[in-house]
Amino acid sequence: MRQDSLKAWQQSTHFAGANAAYMEELYEAYLEDPSSVSEEWQAIFSELPGQRDEVAHTPIREYFRAAALDSNRSKKTTVDPELSEKQVRVLQLINAHRFRGHQGADLDPLGLWKREPVPELDPAFHGLTVEDMSRQFNTGSYAVGGDSMKLGQLIDSLKRTYCGHIGAEYMHITSTEEKRWLQQRIEGVVGVDKLSAEKKVQILEGLNAAEGLEKYLGAKFPGAKRFSLEGGDALIPMMRELIYRSGDHGAKEMVIGMAHRGRLNMLVNILGKKPGDLFDEFAGKHDEALGSGDVKYHQGFSSDFATPGGNVHLALAFNPSHLEIVSPVVIGSVRARMDRRGCTNGNKVVPVTIHGDSAIAGQGVVQETLNMSQTRGFSVGGAIRLVVNNQVGFTTSNPADTRSTEYCTDIAKMVQAPVFHVNADDPEAVAFVAQLAMDYRYEFGRDVFIDLICYRRHGHNEADTPDATQPLMYQKIKKHPTPRRLYADKLVATKVLEAEQVTEQINTYRDQLDAGDCVVPEWRTMAEHSVDWEPYLGHQWDVAWDDKIEVAQLSKLAAAISEIPESHKLQSRVAKIYRDRETMASGDKPLDWGMAETLAYATLLKQGYRVRLTGQDSGRGTFFHRHAVLHNQDNATAYMPLRHVADDQGPIEIFDSVLSEAAAMAFEYGYATAEPSGLTIWEAQFGDFANGAQVVIDQFLSSGEQKWGRLCGLTLLLPHGYEGQGPEHSSARLERFLQLCANYNMQVCVPTTPAQVYHMLRRQTIRPMRRPLVVMSPKSLLRHPMAVSSIEELANGTFQNVIGEIDDLDPSKVDRVVFCSGKVYFDLLERRRKEEMDNVAIVRIEQLYPFPAEEMSKILEPYQHVTEFVWCQEEPQNQGAWYCSQHHFWAAIPKRAQLSYAGRSASAAPAVGYVSLHNTQQQALIESALNLY
Ligand code: AMP
Repeated sequence: MRQDSLKAWQQSTHFAGANAAYMEELYEAYLEDPSSVSEEWQAIFSELPGQRDEVAHTPIREYFRAAALDSNRSKKTTVDPELSEKQVRVLQLINAHRFRGHQGADLDPLGLWKREPVPELDPAFHGLTVEDMSRQFNTGSYAVGGDSMKLGQLIDSLKRTYCGHIGAEYMHITSTEEKRWLQQRIEGVVGVDKLSAEKKVQILEGLNAAEGLEKYLGAKFPGAKRFSLEGGDALIPMMRELIYRSGDHGAKEMVIGMAHRGRLNMLVNILGKKPGDLFDEFAGKHDEALGSGDVKYHQGFSSDFATPGGNVHLALAFNPSHLEIVSPVVIGSVRARMDRRGCTNGNKVVPVTIHGDSAIAGQGVVQETLNMSQTRGFSVGGAIRLVVNNQVGFTTSNPADTRSTEYCTDIAKMVQAPVFHVNADDPEAVAFVAQLAMDYRYEFGRDVFIDLICYRRHGHNEADTPDATQPLMYQKIKKHPTPRRLYADKLVATKVLEAEQVTEQINTYRDQLDAGDCVVPEWRTMAEHSVDWEPYLGHQWDVAWDDKIEVAQLSKLAAAISEIPESHKLQSRVAKIYRDRETMASGDKPLDWGMAETLAYATLLKQGYRVRLTGQDSGRGTFFHRHAVLHNQDNATAYMPLRHVADDQGPIEIFDSVLSEAAAMAFEYGYATAEPSGLTIWEAQFGDFANGAQVVIDQFLSSGEQKWGRLCGLTLLLPHGYEGQGPEHSSARLERFLQLCANYNMQVCVPTTPAQVYHMLRRQTIRPMRRPLVVMSPKSLLRHPMAVSSIEELANGTFQNVIGEIDDLDPSKVDRVVFCSGKVYFDLLERRRKEEMDNVAIVRIEQLYPFPAEEMSKILEPYQHVTEFVWCQEEPQNQGAWYCSQHHFWAAIPKRAQLSYAGRSASAAPAVGYVSLHNTQQQALIESALNLY
């Protein structure tokens, strides 16, 4: 009986032979939830044998294919075959709009885009004719008008949804759930007038403020650079919408990153910076207390913003001119705030990064940041990525020269993020997209892009003459009404406002600017941000801190971090390292580097501090020394002994990072500038690779406090040392860091013993001063038999900026003093001992900056009679510390003494590639330093 009814359905259905994939999708939806498909489909599917056990395992697509064949064979159709064919075509037309409607959308406010017509969007392409327009067709999963619609109505609806002022790109997403969610939210809703009059007036207020500020600044400070927003004015109402929506979702903080364009507008009209303060800056006034400062359009700002869902703290990140690099900084800052609030899904803190169209397509750090977006160590529950797409790059006059992709946002597809292109002259569409993007972010915890397609009314800056390079565009722009004007006219025409009210709005805003006070009605004094920086402000290098942990306590902790559950089977080499650590914990063996470093973390955790360490291979350590994350050889589960230090310990996170330097280091900079407590470390695989993040080092780490007053306690561990591994894996480019040192901006350390690394990490955390710590960390010293320390040195010592002679030499016999830093010390010491020399003292400078002049002079006191001082380094003469730190060495030695150089000759490459040559050079520099020629 069942077979009979099935056959009847097969023979009668006009879907036979058609769109099996579509049928499959419908059927899957039906199986999940029968009510998700129409009653008609429910009736059909309830008759299918797929319901019954005997064919339950038949893949449904095969079933439909078989059914189609069967039906074709029998040819006993009871419906018009032409109509059934057309039905399929209609479904294809719907699909074509979902896939490619954005290519037919009206997105360019200037109407200058020349886009190839998309044949699939034309009903004729699908064989649909004028006569079909009045016929009723099933609309499948199209979320409008029930199950069926007249074709004419359907096309009208499709055009409004997919080819209006919003171009939605989402069909590249593989998740059916996300696609369906987006379809439900977009279809039939886009282009429909749903906003309240109050909302419309609010949007106009945003446009009015955006335009009003620029005009005011243009009149008051003609020719001054302000990187006007004009043309992209919709950014201001859009931001307001994003903040409101995030407040509805329960956000407590929003961190925003953006480049120059429109930044002054954002500062005044969203963050609530007083226009009077901005005018003062235009007039050249500045706060002497704030370092060397920065230009207006790099300044950050913080405030609270009232939304119906609660106040949201806004933080606009300070940024340099290097486009896009601020995005990973923002993401890192968000992650720190999430961690502080115990928020793991990102619901409490939202990142909004604002990009230019050329930069988002051109800068590699965008890809790096996107690649981090769903990883354990770096995810923040999705970011709103907003492109202010003014269709002109500063670096090219022809947009076709700026990228190789159709849209500047095509990189979004690498993380399957939806992209909403929107015509910035339609602020209601812009508001809709803002809400949709924020809702998507909260629903799926993933990145989403908004491409705000606008134009730039003036040149790149106000001194620029853009028609020199974009003549046609600027002819058009000159005649094009402003976004405020267009929308005000619309509101007047639709009787939402009277023309006088529009004029009044303009005048009121101008009066507010004249008064100089905050113009943002939602502005509130800051109360929602989650950290107090007060305890970290204003400290100098000599601020006191207490580093002491008793031996007994250390031994207990050493035992705790050496203990692994029996069920956790270690790889044999790792097991040996842990057996050694047990012996070190019991005091039977001196501590090696890995043990002392791990103990530093353990002590900090025990004291309640937070530790975060990320980098390439950081869990085990590039050189196999750390093994803080242990991998079970039986089932690949991971165990972190440092998570089991004490019941009320601080949190520790150690992540192997994505293979990035720029975004990864920028992220950690962002994290450490938002979180002053605890220890944040970024580790390079080899120190050389840090130059992949040179922008972060130059623009943020070394100068952020000076330019912006932003403190940052980030620690960089950069493996460095000349062991014959060739030009790439020897140098962390010490010279570059030293060259950036001034104004006590950061510390550059080269620790040589386990006790030193222990104290250095603890000092960085416990001392309340927050400044970057750059460490030339060792490679061969990790296993060097002489680079060991006793537990007492940890308990009773402190970080020594300089370490004087350790052998029992008679100072009066010393006629030569060698200064050095890092691993070369042990080469010098070994050779001197081998040669049984007692006339050469060796002094290690463990902190090259700030230079420890006082400690140095104490250590040199016994050598005031010496006239030969030598700086010995492994790096070539043009590298290392010689040129950057020499003046400190000269200042430290007695007046009549001489200072000479022992090291490699100047070289273009950091190191030689041949081991034999390396060995010859190394021997020569040691002999030169000890005067053994
Ligand atoms: P934010 O949460 O970033 O908006 O910052 C809130 C307030 O904390 C700022 O206005 C500053 O006073 C202070 N603050 C934030 N970050 C830092 C930092 N890295 N260094 C010094 N003060 C900071």
